[in-house]
Amino acid sequence: MDFIRYAEAAAALLNADMADVDDLVAYLDDREWLAQRATDRDCMLLRKFQRELRPVFEAGTDADTGEDTGADTGAVVERLNDLMGRHPVTPRISDHDGDLHLHVATENASVAELLVGESLLGLATLVCDLGPHRLGVCAAQPCTDVFVDTSPNQSRRYCSERCSSRANVAAYRARQKAVAATA
Ligand SMILES: [Zn+2]
Ligand SMILES: [Zn+2]
Repeated sequence: MDFIRYAEAAAALLNADMADVDDLVAYLDDREWLAQRATDRDCMLLRKFQRELRPVFEAGTDADTGEDTGADTGAVVERLNDLMGRHPVTPRISDHDGDLHLHVATENASVAELLVGESLLGLATLVCDLGPHRLGVCAAQPCTDVFVDTSPNQSRRYCSERCSSRANVAAYRARQKAVAATA
């Protein structure tokens, strides 16, 4: 498994609309075999998982700032461990593309269980290998989308280019206003 890809899929899953099964099918548009099995119950379980997962990304954002990084690392780890306890993950070693790597077992797993398992395995591996501060929530209010920071200098603050330029424009206008006020 490419754990970064699974961690990024976890962020995309959290950001996705999940109102009904059509939304889930749209989210799975590159995995047709899974989309065919999606049900309203999967949607309901995934909405619940979205609520459970958000605090993990919020704790990861807090780990970026201030001196109490240790405490927030603890929060990320604690929440992820708690989620893995509540949603047991069944990994499988696969060699379908030539290299041995981990997947989440698909036998007997519902669509929701599979997506939850992939999210947790991906995020847990990311946090262990690259650190909890790689998880973040977009800083461009009112956006609340989450992201995985894979930038080399680990400085990402926004979910997308769109939010980044929106925040830059807002900061520029604020500076101009401040200049005008003192002129
Ligand atoms: Zn594979
Ligand atoms: Zn955003």
